Amino acid sequence: MFEKVLIANRGEIALRVLRACKELDIRTVAVYSTADRDLKHVLLADESVCIGPNSSLESYLNIPAIIAAMEVTDSVAVHPGYGFLAENADFAEQVQKSGFHFIGPDPNVIRMMGDKVAAIDAMKKAGVPTVPGSDGPLPDDREYCHKMGNEIGYPVIIKAAAGGGGRGMRVVHTESALWSSIQVTKSEAKAAFGDDTVYMEKYLQNPRHVEVQIISDGQGNTVHLFDRDCSLQRRHQKVLEEAPAPHIDPEAREQVFQSCVNACNEIGYKGAGTFEFLYEDGKFFFIEMNTRIQVEHPVSEMITGVDLIREQIRVCAGQKLSLKQEEIKCNGHAFECRINAEDPKSFLPSPGKVEKFHAPGGLGVRVDSHLYGGYSVPPYYDSMIAKIITHGEDRTTALKRMEIALDELVVTGIKTNTPLQKELVRDKAFAEGGVNIHYLEKKLGLS
Ligand code: ADP
Repeated sequence: MFEKVLIANRGEIALRVLRACKELDIRTVAVYSTADRDLKHVLLADESVCIGPNSSLESYLNIPAIIAAMEVTDSVAVHPGYGFLAENADFAEQVQKSGFHFIGPDPNVIRMMGDKVAAIDAMKKAGVPTVPGSDGPLPDDREYCHKMGNEIGYPVIIKAAAGGGGRGMRVVHTESALWSSIQVTKSEAKAAFGDDTVYMEKYLQNPRHVEVQIISDGQGNTVHLFDRDCSLQRRHQKVLEEAPAPHIDPEAREQVFQSCVNACNEIGYKGAGTFEFLYEDGKFFFIEMNTRIQVEHPVSEMITGVDLIREQIRVCAGQKLSLKQEEIKCNGHAFECRINAEDPKSFLPSPGKVEKFHAPGGLGVRVDSHLYGGYSVPPYYDSMIAKIITHGEDRTTALKRMEIALDELVVTGIKTNTPLQKELVRDKAFAEGGVNIHYLEKKLGLS
């Protein structure tokens, strides 16, 4: 096992990784920007190193500074968390070239999955169902693109191969708008990602976002930890997640689990990963793979009892997966509400000093948060300040526990989106289960 792990992240996920390391008796190094001296995990880590100023470009995204911190602290491995450098193949490669371990898949796997065209191609070959589409980049050939559009059928969506974070996508409803939409998406993709490769997919009108959690040891052993439904989204950002996904066709689900496991074994995947799908009319359509731990991983942990971060660290240290598929049971139901420091109506960030923080508690309630009374939420980073997770023997119990937990939560001094979350867990359609990806924006009057 690694002797010392550097945590190249901040906030709740850095604390989550720190806790897993402590359980494994691994020494920890926290790195932080000058704005983050008072982060909870920095205070709890065995060692800490300031890696730069407030700007994440100069700190959490500063590869030479992070590698230098690994060198001066004699760290053996780095855990990237999510966001920042977690899916940066160049970072993973430089970590390895400097003689350290990257807690995640091999750089070439990260690179392949980061190129959505290559990822879709690999998934297709491995038998994972994909969205009907152009099966590759769109050539600079107007006639061909029009033919493709007619074959797929409108509406279609033009997507950047290098896109991410909900950017680099454009829905096209009519043939007359196709060519100009391709050109605009191309130039936006070039500006945002330095790559103007785009492809075409059928635009599904009312899908749900359902994803499959896997963990793999890169030695031919992969297990899935069931699925999650993350359909409640605003601007492609997930707001509230649950596991397992409710009302899914059991046969389609079993098949998709198996194809995800097969795909991992085929590409030599190592670590935790998520296959994201759109689910419509009882069918799954692959859209992308995330080669890292995700924000919403706790809901899968709650229904399976598996510590995903611990397993992720173990397999990346070269140990064989200790889990067997038949031993992983789906026990009950779990929800996660993301609590953000933001205005619940305008969604504008609300950084500042937290006066009081009272976390909810009780049976089946878990709070992953770096918050404490007196802590100041800096304005420079993502606004998520806590994740409230509840578990129950069934969906109704878990949801009721979330209602109670949100009512117990106290955060004063800054605004949070708790009022919105309270409304969502009491929403009738949501309580039935299975709302689609447009539901939240429609409810908010945004679309
Ligand atoms: P990103 O990497 O930017 O998150 P994704 O490919 O995961 O991009 O897509 C993000 C979201 O965009 C999906 O969750 C879904 O809401 C929407 N989307 C993407 N592809 C399609 C499609 N073919 N049909 C309908 N909606 C889509």
